[in-house]
Amino acid sequence: SFDVLIVGGGPAGAAAAIYAARKGIRTGVAAERFGGQVLDTMAIENFISVPYTEGPKLAAALEQHVKEYEADIMNLQRAVKLVPAADQGGEHEVVFESGASLKSRTLILSTGARWREMNVPGEAEYRNKGVAYCPHCDGPLFKGKRVAVIGGGNSGVEAAIDLAGIVGHVTLIEFMDEMRADAVLQKKLRSLSNVEIILGARTTEVNGDGQRVNGLTYEERASGEIKQIALEGIFVQIGLVPNTEWLTDSPIELSPRGEIVVDERGMTSVPGIFAAGDVTTVPYKQIVIAMGEGSKAALGAFDYLIRH
Ligand code: FAD
Repeated sequence: SFDVLIVGGGPAGAAAAIYAARKGIRTGVAAERFGGQVLDTMAIENFISVPYTEGPKLAAALEQHVKEYEADIMNLQRAVKLVPAADQGGEHEVVFESGASLKSRTLILSTGARWREMNVPGEAEYRNKGVAYCPHCDGPLFKGKRVAVIGGGNSGVEAAIDLAGIVGHVTLIEFMDEMRADAVLQKKLRSLSNVEIILGARTTEVNGDGQRVNGLTYEERASGEIKQIALEGIFVQIGLVPNTEWLTDSPIELSPRGEIVVDERGMTSVPGIFAAGDVTTVPYKQIVIAMGEGSKAALGAFDYLIRH
């Protein structure tokens, strides 16, 4: 059994593993896919002190760094159930799809999140070739160009406002007849001269020239009319889904959006169980933030161990 078992091997999990192992405590990391979302990323230009890297390279470096320490890495392990300790200070158990189970005095849950996709033709084909999900990450790549933002919730409208300051023109496309974003954001968006808002529109296809995105097709829902827009980029902002389905039967408190609620040390509602990164309520889902949060959760877990 472990002192600290980390579930999830993205930037948050890797950082937690390094911080825990450096305390000389028994540390394990079990992940479905070590590297996490970073594996699906191409250019990374906001990993501070590294002006440019690529996802697979950063993922390999994460694993290499964890392997410098005595941490057990268990890859291709999907957690399906969590059984909290019966009494405080006891061992928590994580059950995996393989049937295996692991016990640990503290846990750090860092199972990340995934962007909700439109599931329309062209979206997967042009991912990282004009189709993007993160304005903080990829906004500057579209400087002066025309982009669409799909989704009129808070994240979509925030993205459109953010992008309007960088790109040439933004078209926001919302499925419903009105945007769900906060009124103050909608007002700000409507005040921008290089933004067009299209409501009641269902995006049906991402168009491209075989290399990159060059347009988007949508259906005007009221009329059924099919329309096209020429553009260079599409930011899909229809939701970031936390990977917490395996926790819904556990006593861990989740927010209405399914994110794990954590305190300022990264501890969840269950003593001795911590969480970090995109899976938590901590806002702004980014690599450096996930790493900081993972480090913090490991220190929180260590603090917990020396007190129990
Ligand atoms: P993740 O990276 O999501 O890792 C989660 C880990 O948990 C993985 O190992 C996964 O396999 C594992 N896991 C999930 N469920 C289970 C389970 N049930 N059992 C066991 N393991 C499980 N951020 C930036 O800062 N800069 C960028 O340029 C940037 N570009 C991006 C581009 C794309 C296309 C995407 C998708 C994201 C991008 N991000 C970027 C965001 C960044 O990747 C995330 O914020 C970061 O990876 C979050 O780290 P994490 O460790 O919390 O979660």
